[in-house]
Amino acid sequence: MAPITKQYDYIVIGGGSGGSGAARRASGWYGAKTCIIDAGVSGGCCVNVGCVPKKMTWNFASISEAIAAGKHYGYKFGDGNSFDFKTFVDKRDARIKVLNGAYENNWAKEGIELIHGTATFISEHEMEVKPKDGSEVFRVTAPHICVATGSYPTKPEGIKGSEYGITSDEYFAIKYLPKKMIFVGAGYIAVELAGVMNAIGVETHLFIRGDTFLRKFDPMIQETLTKHYEEIGVHVHRNHPGIKEVIQLHGGDEEHSDPREKKLKVIMNDGSEMETNELLWAIGRGPEDRGLGLENIDIKRNQKGHIVVDKYQNSSVPGVYAIGDITGQAELTPVAIAAGRQLGNRLFGPPEFKDAHLDYDRIPSVVFSHPECGTTGLTEPQAIEKYGKENIKVYHTKFSAMFYDVYPPEEKKKEPTEFKIVCQGPREEIVGLHILGRGVDEMMQGFGVAVKMGATKKDFDSCVAIHPTSAEELVTMR
Ligand code: NDP
Repeated sequence: MAPITKQYDYIVIGGGSGGSGAARRASGWYGAKTCIIDAGVSGGCCVNVGCVPKKMTWNFASISEAIAAGKHYGYKFGDGNSFDFKTFVDKRDARIKVLNGAYENNWAKEGIELIHGTATFISEHEMEVKPKDGSEVFRVTAPHICVATGSYPTKPEGIKGSEYGITSDEYFAIKYLPKKMIFVGAGYIAVELAGVMNAIGVETHLFIRGDTFLRKFDPMIQETLTKHYEEIGVHVHRNHPGIKEVIQLHGGDEEHSDPREKKLKVIMNDGSEMETNELLWAIGRGPEDRGLGLENIDIKRNQKGHIVVDKYQNSSVPGVYAIGDITGQAELTPVAIAAGRQLGNRLFGPPEFKDAHLDYDRIPSVVFSHPECGTTGLTEPQAIEKYGKENIKVYHTKFSAMFYDVYPPEEKKKEPTEFKIVCQGPREEIVGLHILGRGVDEMMQGFGVAVKMGATKKDFDSCVAIHPTSAEELVTMR
């Protein structure tokens, strides 16, 4: 018997941030008959194993840092201050469960049908769905299908024993802290998670191939932050020769929640060795195309397997769209959400939205490092390449935030604050802004608006400073 076929106006594959944004705009705002097909847990990477648990863990680590700062302010704490990481993780997990439910409630309220299962393209507008609960396979069709399946953290190929290391997905299962942990990688994830573990007392080693980490960021951020990580105790292995083999000397528990007993021997390409309780690969993410059946629809993909889209998120197959990490464009949650909403506006909104699309220029982002850093627009080298050195003016400042005024001068844990404004042309239009220091995570959004609006240095200067803040330096720089 032929499987039942259900018809929709819009099928969204993936119930992460991007898929949710896309479906809610189409159904909630414009009444399109929409379903979300999700093979995992509602909320996707960001909610379950990404931004949300990461930020909560960063907050947890900030308390450790605040307690350490307290002594410089004259606070007295008893001996043996301690914490129970598992208590925190249980609370974090409980909060995530609430968010999973909130996602599903919002979808239900907005008339979106949620299908737990795996969707595979049969043809351009028809998919086969294997429900997660093992019930009968069925088919779905729609004139519009949006692929929002995201990405997954990769492990390196060709390294013997690489499977003994974990990725950021399993990191969030850890309930008991290992004594020692190695992070391999130099991007957002390695820098954020290594920073957190170091702050809460884990012996942290960071293996980076280059001389600095965050190499896609402005050199100011790379250099200052890499050096500061060393100062606060992260063992940064610059120009690391790479890992040849990972040997499991003693296994941890299968859920990865307790790496204390796990023991790995890591052999490097130069013959050196290191033992560790845990190793985490943070070497980039791959497009989540597993089971999608993209090969059945002859869709254009790039070398890394990302779906190629135009500025409207159209793929090479008419009526099939892609948003978020599966496209490899700015792999950031809010980018996927914004692209999904714009796509919904264009496909189902009123005629004035027929050109709706996300503008990918000057997207601000923050790395929750220690201290945090924020960036938008071009780095200084990118600006020079684009406009020519003679057309670029750079403003730069470095100072110690007032918070550290009571610290002794030799204290290494004083976080640096450093700002750079990259301007272009005689009007000094701001084409890049790079900030690093205590509190810049909350500073970045507002300045991101200004830079997106095309602010000039004069506009910044015309805004009266808020005193005493670190941010005021951004409107008073000479
Ligand atoms: P990234 O792509 O940011 O960084 C991975 C880095 O690891 C590479 O740039 C490379 O740096 C290094 N690397 C690559 N291969 C190897 C290797 N074989 N051995 C050693 N190092 C290697 O990936 P992430 O996994 O950190 O993060 C994925 C994406 O998730 C990010 O691009 C970001 O957009 C997003 N994200 C955003 C966050 C936020 O907004 N706060 C937080 C977390 C993730 P190099 O060339 O210098 O060696």
